[in-house]
Amino acid sequence: MDYDNNNIFSKIIRGDIQCEKIFENEHVLSFMDIMPQVNGHCLVVPKSPSIGLLDADPAVFAPLFSAVQHIGNAVKFAFNADGITIMQFNGEAAGQTVFHLHVHILPRITGIPLKPHNGTMEDVEIIKKNGNLIRNALIRLAP
Ligand code: 5GP
Repeated sequence: MDYDNNNIFSKIIRGDIQCEKIFENEHVLSFMDIMPQVNGHCLVVPKSPSIGLLDADPAVFAPLFSAVQHIGNAVKFAFNADGITIMQFNGEAAGQTVFHLHVHILPRITGIPLKPHNGTMEDVEIIKKNGNLIRNALIRLAP
């Protein structure tokens, strides 16, 4: 399977499709998941193309996981989470549905289970509100 430049995250990175952006630098883009498995579910994607973790240039991992840590702390603060689940899928058999490397960040509250993967589209106003909460937390936690 070759990398497809027209996958949905590639279009989001190019700005061809809208997203609720929460963070961006020269290496990565982070935005809210439109079918969240839990309130505050967001994604971090490297800007350079790879299908998943297995075919990625290892140089992407440092900036990618640095951003995951940075945004993970903001998500924990924004949702007063008890924990943070980090997920990453490689291949259809593993549950991957969008074939551009991405990392899921999910704030977890004790006793609240995850909703199904690729379940229900969230209300756009809730996505915006949650994006705002995370952006504000990033500002609040900035050194
Ligand atoms: P995967 O199954 O590949 O690990 O995760 C893909 C994720 O992307 C899913 O959680 C899904 O809800 C999310 N997603 C799919 N299409 C879009 C989209 O157009 N915009 C956003 N923001 N998220 C998407």
